[in-house]
Amino acid sequence: MGKKHKNFVVFLDVDGVLNTRTTVQQTPKGYQGIDDARVEVLAKTISKFGGADIVLSSDWKELEPTDEDYRYLVSKLARYGLIISGHTQDRMYKRGAGIAAYLEEHPEIKEYVILDDCRFDFQSYPKLWERLLLTEGIEHARFAAGTPAVETMVFLDYVKLF
Ligand SMILES: [Mg+2]
Repeated sequence: MGKKHKNFVVFLDVDGVLNTRTTVQQTPKGYQGIDDARVEVLAKTISKFGGADIVLSSDWKELEPTDEDYRYLVSKLARYGLIISGHTQDRMYKRGAGIAAYLEEHPEIKEYVILDDCRFDFQSYPKLWERLLLTEGIEHARFAAGTPAVETMVFLDYVKLF
């Protein structure tokens, strides 16, 4: 078992959340980079919420911690005081299954939101679906579900402040 989390966790996708197709930033290896302004929105939202642990659900989690692009991600987050507390594991784009398994292993997590620009298998898990914010860049986040969970509504309200 890993370390204990804060009670609130943000499951974070990167591409489509902290960048968009029009992002001009590049990673050291030449892939689409990360926009500081979007990391700042995430950091301010989390701060306003009273803190959160960040669990990486993005494909970026497949990179080795020593990979220069992974280090780039870590440094981009660190500029705004954000650190990655863990990451999910999944296969075949079953990101919902990966998050569901993570939550089962970490019963101390009471509240969470999921930031992602894709639906994947999330709708197969009603609790995840109610906590999914679909993004086109974090500043354009919207509820996936018609009846989102309360913490998701609060989180989105805060995103809109920044
Ligand atoms: Mg994405």
